[in-house]
Amino acid sequence: MPKTTGPREDTRLIRAGQSATPAAKTVGPAVQKGSTVLLPDAASLYDDGGRLTYGRQGLSAQFALREALAELEHAKAVSLYPSGIAALTGALLAVLKAGDTVLVTDAIYKPTRRFCDHVLKRFGVGVRYFDPRQTPEALVGEASEATRLILMESPGSLSFEMQDVGRVAELARARRILTVADNTWGAGYLHRPLDHGVDISVQALTKYVAGHSDVFMGSAAVNDPKLARLLDDGVHNLGWAVAGDEAYQVLRGLRTLPTRLARQGDSGLAVAAWLRDRPEVIEVFHPGLPGAPDHALWKRDYTGACGLFAFSLKPGPEVAVNAFLDALRLFGLGFSWGGFESLAIACDPQLKVRGFHPDYGGPLIRLHIGLEDPADLIDDLARGLDIYTAKAG
Ligand SMILES: *Cc1c(COP(=O)(O)O)cnc(C)c1O
Repeated sequence: MPKTTGPREDTRLIRAGQSATPAAKTVGPAVQKGSTVLLPDAASLYDDGGRLTYGRQGLSAQFALREALAELEHAKAVSLYPSGIAALTGALLAVLKAGDTVLVTDAIYKPTRRFCDHVLKRFGVGVRYFDPRQTPEALVGEASEATRLILMESPGSLSFEMQDVGRVAELARARRILTVADNTWGAGYLHRPLDHGVDISVQALTKYVAGHSDVFMGSAAVNDPKLARLLDDGVHNLGWAVAGDEAYQVLRGLRTLPTRLARQGDSGLAVAAWLRDRPEVIEVFHPGLPGAPDHALWKRDYTGACGLFAFSLKPGPEVAVNAFLDALRLFGLGFSWGGFESLAIACDPQLKVRGFHPDYGGPLIRLHIGLEDPADLIDDLARGLDIYTAKAG
C-alpha cells in the first residue's frame, strides 16, 4: 500500500475547490453565500472591533445594496429586512419600550396596523390613530408625555392622504418624539423623508426598487448614528437575515428605478387625468394630479409621481364593481404594486377598520400603472367602465 503523504480522500474532497481564485470584476457585486465567516486567527473570533463574524450580518451583495440605498435615501446608514412589513415592525421594536405611546396615521398600510394593534399593544405600547389630513400642529398636539414616536405614511397607499412630513418632524423633534415615514410610494427617489427632518425612512423595497413583483425586502434609512446602532441591534436581536441572491436582485432593480418611475409616473398621470373626465368617476385620488387632494403638498415635497393611485366610482353594488374588475384584460387583479405590470383592486373591504374618512363617495378602486402603453390601459378601463354602468344600472 502506498504511503499517504497528504490528507486522505474524504478530507481532500471536503476541501476541494477552495483554492483562492480572485473574483473577476463584474458590473454587479459578487453574491457570496455563507453562514460561517472564516476568520484569520483565534484572536479575531471575539474581536469586538466591528469585524464581520457571521453571515447573518450580510455579505458582499447585502453591503453593496445597503451602500446604494444610503445613496438613494440621502442616508448615513441603511438596515435591511426580509420584507417591507419586517422593516416597519423591526424599526418600531428597535426604538419602543413598554409604557410608550405611538401616534399612527389612520391611513396606514393594513398589515402595519395589525402589528400595532396585535403586537405593540400586547407588549404595553399604546397606539392611537390620527386623521391623516390633520394639521401638523393638531397632530403633534395629540401627543402626551408618553408619546415616543409618530408613524406617517404619506401618501397612504389606498386613499392617498398626505402629511406635511417636514413640519410634523420639526414639531415632533422639539418634543423629543421620533418620526418614522413609510415612504414606499416615494420609493426613496421621488421624495426623501430624511431631507425633510424625518428620523427613520422606511420602504418596502418589494415594490418599486425591486420592481418586478418577485422578491420581498424592506429597508430603514437613518442619519443619526445612535439610531443606526439601535436599528442594527434590532435586526440582530430579532434574527433577521436577507439572502445574497435577493439583495443582488433588489440592487439590479435599483439601477432602473428612475427610468421606470419616470415612465410609470407619466402614464399614471395620463390615466388619472382621463379617469377624472369620465362620467362614472366621482373623484381621482392622485396627489400628482392638479386639483386633486394634497396636490400642493406633493408639488412642494416630491420630484415626481409613481404609478399608484385610486379613484371612486359613482355608487353601485359590489357585483358591478366586481364586473368592472373582471372585465379588465390588461390589469391583473392582485395586491402589491411597484412592478412593471398594471394591477387593480377594490379597496372598500380594507377601509372598514378606519376611524377617519372611511367613505370616498362610492366604491374606491386602486390602480397600479405599469410599463404598458397607457393608451391600451385606457382602452381597457373604458371597456370596464361601460360594463360597470350597465351593471350598476
Ligand atoms: C407592500 C407595502 C408594505 C410591506 O411590504 P412587504 O414587502 O410586502 O412586506 C409596507 N408599506 C406599504 C405602503 C406597502 O405598500
